Amino acid sequence: MVGKNNPASNPTNPLDVFIIGAGPCGLAVAARLQESTPSALFTDEEHQRYLWIRRHGGRVALAGKGKKKQRKEAARGSRSSPKILVLDSSSPAWLEKWHRSFRTLEIAHLRSPMFFHVDPGDRDGMLAYTRENRREGELGEISGCVGKEISKHRQKKRANSVRNRGAIGGDGEVEIDERDRKDYFAPSSALFADYSASIVERYGLDLPGLVVKGEACDIQYGDDGNGLRVFSVRTTDGREFYARAVVLAIGPGRTKIYPFPLSDEEKTASSHSSEIGCFPSPRVQGMIQQRRASNVVVVGGGLTSAQIVDLAVRRGVTRVWHLMRSDVKVKHFDIALPWMGKFKNYEKAAFWSADTDEERLEKIQAARNGGSITPHYLKILKQHVARRRVSIHPRTVISERRYCPDTQTWQLTTDPPIPDLPAVDHIYFATGVKSDVNELPLLQRMQREYPIETKQGLPCITDDLMWQADVPLFVTGRLAALRLGPGAGNLEGARMGAERVTWGVEETLEGGGNEMETGLDCLCGMGNRYERLSSIAG
Ligand SMILES: Cc1cc2nc3c(=O)[nH]c(=O)nc-3n(C[C@H](O)[C@H](O)[C@H](O)COP(=O)(O)OP(=O)(O)OC[C@H]3O[C@@H](n4cnc5c(N)ncnc54)[C@H](O)[C@@H]3O)c2cc1C
Repeated sequence: MVGKNNPASNPTNPLDVFIIGAGPCGLAVAARLQESTPSALFTDEEHQRYLWIRRHGGRVALAGKGKKKQRKEAARGSRSSPKILVLDSSSPAWLEKWHRSFRTLEIAHLRSPMFFHVDPGDRDGMLAYTRENRREGELGEISGCVGKEISKHRQKKRANSVRNRGAIGGDGEVEIDERDRKDYFAPSSALFADYSASIVERYGLDLPGLVVKGEACDIQYGDDGNGLRVFSVRTTDGREFYARAVVLAIGPGRTKIYPFPLSDEEKTASSHSSEIGCFPSPRVQGMIQQRRASNVVVVGGGLTSAQIVDLAVRRGVTRVWHLMRSDVKVKHFDIALPWMGKFKNYEKAAFWSADTDEERLEKIQAARNGGSITPHYLKILKQHVARRRVSIHPRTVISERRYCPDTQTWQLTTDPPIPDLPAVDHIYFATGVKSDVNELPLLQRMQREYPIETKQGLPCITDDLMWQADVPLFVTGRLAALRLGPGAGNLEGARMGAERVTWGVEETLEGGGNEMETGLDCLCGMGNRYERLSSIAG
């Protein structure tokens, strides 16, 4: 790793890896690059085998491997960690954007369960951390998704139907085994923050100067003049960083989705959920302080919309009108339950073995199925509705609008009409952001010089999450959804992405393929793991 006096701005001494984005995905990659015995994606048995291969791989005959290669691989166990540097536009610190969102919306608990975290060392690491620190009281049970074991006969019937259909479809049955109940608690935001900080510390990622503030605006890849191919990444303030591999961990992208384009004037009385600074807006805050009636509209059907509605009520807004295009969808997680529970390997296998990216796109859309709110937040919303502080309007869109700068209020017409809708003081759009690499200025040059296909804005990257087979620009997070699946943009996707990126980065830095690593890919679900494990002799 590099600290304060980093060599990043010297093209003849480039970094090994330059990570753009210090969010969960960037942290997952940085931590994984420091971890020589990852286990977070493996079952115990696979992890034991992994350790065994690492330890003895150089001394026993691995099918189809030469002696020289084996020695090289054995030495890799004690490889020095790569020189890395991290750039983030929000802050020179890890997870600042994440923490800010949670603080702003006063989110008490994560939506995701205990095994969703970025620790490459241990799948059950957050659970262990919670117990060690006696913080069980900070867990919120995710009730209603863990069920009793189903009979062997039923399991078989179900597995067959899964094989036939390639997926399990909403038959209303619980999907999570009773024995996994311990996993289905949501950590408090503080617990998750502390656990993440402990990961940063454990892997030495708190080195001063390791995360620098800056916004990347251009990426170039080419010859450094000495026959070595390097990336140069430019920031909006004119700095230049050089690296042999670049990891793009910039989240979902920045193109905010609005139901209609907004004028500058209209923007003063509205906010997009991805950029809420203070809540509620200063004008609405003033009205609350003066005990004047205030009316706020929240547009969107995802969890963030429900969190904004709840917070507005708690902050004293008189009435909140919650408008959504679809019906109210209630789901525990941002992806369908079969992708979480014991059948998730069927889902993943079906996803990875799909013939085309179009098919994968369909699976992503089916698993995510738009925004949804959790049963917990539905209960909260219902309480607000009962107290007449909130009214929920499914299948309702804003059909006409007029913003009056004098009164600083909106006159809205909706379809279907809401009869008693008064003048509205502020609109919150919790309508998401568009993940489209074609719209990212940062990638314009790469698209010009190393064009790749995209499907609905998602790049068709390699299985190693590389831009092209010989262009080690790695993409992780939501933008890697065509390879990682519907969970790419959440915390489990962050860990899965880090695993794949690391294999690719190691190969890039070693200057070629590595048979043992390729074999170990299988352990990460990137190939036929059982075939590979059975090929190990001795
Ligand atoms: C309110 C909220 C709650 C959520 N709760 C959960 C949850 O409980 N569980 C779960 O699994 N997921 C949750 N998610 C989804 C969550 O966004 C992801 O799990 C996680 O943030 C994805 O991490 P990321 O690193 O891909 O993206 P981000 O967290 O968005 O991080 C990307 C980073 O890249 C930086 N960046 C972007 N562009 C540039 C650039 N050009 N140059 C330099 N830096 C740049 C940004 O500043 C940011 O720090 C939640 C999301 C929100 C909004």
